[in-house]
Amino acid sequence: MKLCAAALATPYVGCALAWAGTERLKNWAGNLEYGTDKVFTATSLEQVQESVKQNDRLKALGTRHCFNNIADSKDAFISLKPMDKVIALDPTKRTVTVSAGITYGQLCPYLDEKGFALHNLASLPHISVAGACTTATHGSGEKNGNLSTAVSALEIVTADGSVVNLSREHDSDTFNGAVVGLGALGVLTKVTLDVQPTYQMRQYVYEDLPFAALKDHFDAIEASGYSVSLFTDWQKQRVNEVWIKSRVEPGKEFRATPELFGARLATRNLHPIKELSAENCTEQMGVAGPWYERLPHFRMGFTPSAGKELQAEYFVPRKHAVEAIMAVERLHDQVGPALFITEIRTIAADMLWMSPCFERDCVTIHFTWKPDWPAVSKLLPIIERELAPFDACPHWGKLFTTSPTELKRVHKKMPEFIDLCKQFDPKGKFRNQFLNQNVFGPSPN
Ligand SMILES: Cc1cc2nc3c(=O)[nH]c(=O)nc-3n(C[C@H](O)[C@H](O)[C@H](O)COP(=O)(O)OP(=O)(O)OC[C@H]3O[C@@H](n4cnc5c(N)ncnc54)[C@H](O)[C@@H]3O)c2cc1C
Repeated sequence: MKLCAAALATPYVGCALAWAGTERLKNWAGNLEYGTDKVFTATSLEQVQESVKQNDRLKALGTRHCFNNIADSKDAFISLKPMDKVIALDPTKRTVTVSAGITYGQLCPYLDEKGFALHNLASLPHISVAGACTTATHGSGEKNGNLSTAVSALEIVTADGSVVNLSREHDSDTFNGAVVGLGALGVLTKVTLDVQPTYQMRQYVYEDLPFAALKDHFDAIEASGYSVSLFTDWQKQRVNEVWIKSRVEPGKEFRATPELFGARLATRNLHPIKELSAENCTEQMGVAGPWYERLPHFRMGFTPSAGKELQAEYFVPRKHAVEAIMAVERLHDQVGPALFITEIRTIAADMLWMSPCFERDCVTIHFTWKPDWPAVSKLLPIIERELAPFDACPHWGKLFTTSPTELKRVHKKMPEFIDLCKQFDPKGKFRNQFLNQNVFGPSPN
């Protein structure tokens, strides 16, 4: 068997058999079959170094939640899944250092128990911290940076197997270039994140916000909670659901009025797609609970079923939010049949070179599509064309057809990022087809 033969040739590295069977290794959604099922599983820094040294081409694989081929390899993967421990919690510096294979689902209850919290989370907790931070994964909240902005230090194994440590404090420029590293700089082995004292949150949902109200009051709606998500199917000129997550803080608590700019306060827990059961969704109706059970839309204990959706998402500068939303609204007849639901969120600007929010506050327009790639692949260029005048750029981990030229135009720091990659990985050990196409330009390899 290819998998174990590889492991035998690499005595320090174990082999992962979880997906060794008749099925080829796929991403979470099942829309992508990876180019190899050769996976080295490392349990220590030394094993990562050994594996990196022994392979000419290698890709770190996280929890496989990307919808495109950013994580793909035709040669070999390294998984840090067993490296999922908290290494140190520093209450004075307010940081937590973790092994890079840990997921938010594993980390958050630990932090909460120790009296700490993260500033934000994505819609589901099952993703790895390394995979999320390296792709600029985000939650919502106009004052909240994406999840990568919580990173204060990194340990990376670079192409020659050496270990590089970078911190926000000591290596500002290189650090800002490395955090959203797209898996191109090396294998992340440790990540240090900022933490803050734990907090409680309440979540309220409003139904049927007219688009006219969204146009007139976008800023007020976005300012109405710590984290706000708008869900729409683009039909009937309305946002189907407004999810408002607020922190329970004396004097600052969100008071749920029966109406919000024409939307009605929901009287039961709702799924973002109203027709579906809310059983797997985080508690709503203003019931206070820990931050990590309110910031994601889906419960920790619930393992989402795989293979039933596709996702695409575009970041637009916040100043163009309403115009960009209305540009997509004009496509409602085309978009409707292929769509499950759209989510609109806001994210604060950051300093991370390859983040779509580099030096710009953003609004994101996300599409959860039915698993029909032929239909979705026709719609993406249409949406991208409508959003191009607003300097839109796609989520690094979701489906897009944006040209490499356009990506380079929007990501102003891409030349510096390419130089950094060349320092860490001169021969392109960590490159793959995605990176060659979208970052480095076509390569003969
Ligand atoms: C159901 C669902 C909901 C989602 N919700 C959100 C959301 O709310 N917000 C949002 O922004 N995104 C969301 N995403 C997208 C998701 O957060 C990103 O795709 C993220 O990258 C997933 O992390 P992963 O570990 O699964 O990455 P993978 O797909 O495994 O890998 C992604 C990239 O990370 C790199 N990588 C992974 N581990 C390492 C490592 N140790 N060292 C170096 N590089 C590494 C890989 O090489 C690859 O380049 C969602 C995805 C799904 C499937």
